[in-house]
Amino acid sequence: MSEDEGSSSPQASGATGAEGGDVVPLRPPKPCPNCGKPSTRKAYPFCSSRCADVDLNRWLTGQYVVPGRPLEDGDEEEA
Ligand SMILES: [Zn+2]
Repeated sequence: MSEDEGSSSPQASGATGAEGGDVVPLRPPKPCPNCGKPSTRKAYPFCSSRCADVDLNRWLTGQYVVPGRPLEDGDEEEA
């Protein structure tokens, strides 16, 4: 009988170094449409809320034009 008391705790090892599984993001960060910096989750797809604000402002000022798809006329009625 040999009791190693406190000598073999499961948390004693493995706390440092590689855990055997790398944390890989699902997808690479897209560059910010405004400045080209890597986007962040917080302000996705922009790098910061500031850039998001700039982009939004562009939309509001009409610098962006949505290609294709015209506005809906509203003629379509439900049959
Ligand atoms: Zn940016």
